[in-house]
Amino acid sequence: MALDPTNPFAQPSVLPFGLLDFNAIRDEHYQPAIEAGMAEHRAELDAIAANPEPATVANVIEAWERSGELLTRAASAFYAKQPADTNDLLDAAEEAIAPARAAHTDAIYLDRGLYQRLVALNDRVQAAELSLDEQSAYWLKRKLADFERSGVNLPDAEQQRLREFNLRIAELQSAFARVSLAGGNAAAVLVSDPAELDGLSQAEKQGAAELAAERGLSGWLIEISNTSGQRTLDVLTNRSLRERIHRAAIGRGLGGEHDTRAIIVELVRLRAERATLLGFATHADYSAADGCAGNGAAVWELLTGLVAPTMRNVEAEAAELAAVWSRIAPGQTLAAWDWQYVREQLRVERYALDASGLRPYLELERVLHAGVFASATGLYGITFTERPELRGYTAEARVFEVDEADGTPIGLFVADFYTRPGKQGGAWMNNLVDQNHLLGQFPVVTNNSNLIKPPAGQPTLMTWDDVITLFHEFGHALHGLLSDTGYRSQSGTETPRDFVEYPSQVNEMWALEPTLLANYAVHHATGEPLPAAWVQTLRNSATFGQGYHTAEILAAALLDQVWHATPLTELPTQAEQVTDFEAAALAKVGLSFDLVPPRYRSAYFRHIFEGGYDAGYYSYLWSEVMDADTGAFMMANGGLTRDNGERFRRKLLARGGSIDSMQAYRDYRGADPDLTHLLKRRGLEA
Ligand SMILES: [Zn+2]
Repeated sequence: MALDPTNPFAQPSVLPFGLLDFNAIRDEHYQPAIEAGMAEHRAELDAIAANPEPATVANVIEAWERSGELLTRAASAFYAKQPADTNDLLDAAEEAIAPARAAHTDAIYLDRGLYQRLVALNDRVQAAELSLDEQSAYWLKRKLADFERSGVNLPDAEQQRLREFNLRIAELQSAFARVSLAGGNAAAVLVSDPAELDGLSQAEKQGAAELAAERGLSGWLIEISNTSGQRTLDVLTNRSLRERIHRAAIGRGLGGEHDTRAIIVELVRLRAERATLLGFATHADYSAADGCAGNGAAVWELLTGLVAPTMRNVEAEAAELAAVWSRIAPGQTLAAWDWQYVREQLRVERYALDASGLRPYLELERVLHAGVFASATGLYGITFTERPELRGYTAEARVFEVDEADGTPIGLFVADFYTRPGKQGGAWMNNLVDQNHLLGQFPVVTNNSNLIKPPAGQPTLMTWDDVITLFHEFGHALHGLLSDTGYRSQSGTETPRDFVEYPSQVNEMWALEPTLLANYAVHHATGEPLPAAWVQTLRNSATFGQGYHTAEILAAALLDQVWHATPLTELPTQAEQVTDFEAAALAKVGLSFDLVPPRYRSAYFRHIFEGGYDAGYYSYLWSEVMDADTGAFMMANGGLTRDNGERFRRKLLARGGSIDSMQAYRDYRGADPDLTHLLKRRGLEA
């Protein structure tokens, strides 16, 4: 099926850095381009498998890396656009594409002809007929392992079962994403009495009124964000509204038309069956085998080892908050919906710093240029210039050119900051074009966040969390932008999942770098710098509330592991059992604590049920061990300096996934990661 030549994906882009022409691309162009791309890719791979010549780097590895260009082009664009700005047509396309792509990928990794071609190349290397450079050798090793993990050596009948599992799993993951997004939107809380909104800023109230009006409702609409905790709970003084918001947040997916429980049950059972078929005890083992962790037991050991210090910490925090609460509301017992509010009160009391007082000092443009970009300039010498004539994948996306210190172009950074109804919650990074030398491609990477758009003409004022998120996602962007690899499949963030968060978490540390902070945290109206006492407070308060934060992340990570490490015979068979299973899982590991829900409860845990982080949510903590160790190392060596940046860039970021990730870590750091720094940072030391 050839692609209509008028489809903008039919030809490689002629725009700078291979940026796709989003002015020309319409919603209906994606699906046919991706479908034609899969057909073309298949034919190219068939030709690689059928090549009668002796296997070489050129006719196996390079030919493979050159294949699938149309598919890559169209799918990269689609997966930038659809999560950020979807509609019914794009949702329908996603539903059609997801299972087709899963089947396409399966067909590749179950293709014995292709596998034999890899084996033939490996045999020639073993026989010393050929020698491979480091990146090619790692490419071949990984590719052979991927085929073996995917079941290429299974007999026909079992391969057929595997295909059916994979197809159904992809369908269920898409369904979870769809139902859960709709459920999140439907969970928004409508307020009819303006007095209840006490604590919100004027701009937030106005935003809430506009949201209600957009949906044809009268009153104010409080949106529910991804996580269990809701930022509005920090500030709302009305207890019953806090309770309604909390219940709306943690009750998502548990009934009604957006019930996700049946999807979860079918999904975890299929994943367990598939793991067994592939020779792994559990899906957790299958998943960890592909990462730095190696196996499920190593993950379990890290996570459960954190439970006792975390609980000690969170219980101490609870006692402290209960004491404050008893002064605010004598006779009332601290509830989950009071926690964030009381914590804010305590933060103000202890540090004389509240979230709303901070916001005027955290204006988006200033934070972006004098903070986020300036940190990268300080470390890597690179510069950023907005290119307003270039259009991103949404009307609001902004495009920046990134150059070396000497002006040599590196690539493009595309940022889409604001929330909108068709946008997934949270923040993330994508690649529109992966850097690689083989095809001479420059990186084009994106960052998405969900900042609330201010009324026209007003500045975008952020919370401290928003600032950290901006630095975090930009850390992923740098991993893509500073990639220096031969092959596309090893570029930038193409690393194991339990490694990929590490560079982005490292980048968060620069938010508190003194010179940067003095430049970017400036009052948007008065131009005054953030008061020195507040700066000190931000530093001192780094471990404030970390018991809660660690507990919610740890509970989510353990929940994920329990769902995926439990044998099939012990998994729920009915939707109604999901809540009990979840409660039992948390109780079993000692993390059952009513005041602190997991960061995501199962019914809206999109990281793991939409796929991508299934049996992999632990990666955030795993990466944080390396991150804390690296942070301590950099601070001991001068902090934000070109020397520190250069070392991190060349030995770690630039190598992407072209060598073993733990090896890259040791090359950079000169040692294995040391857990002590994580415990210290989170205030969890005994
Ligand atoms: Zn991240």
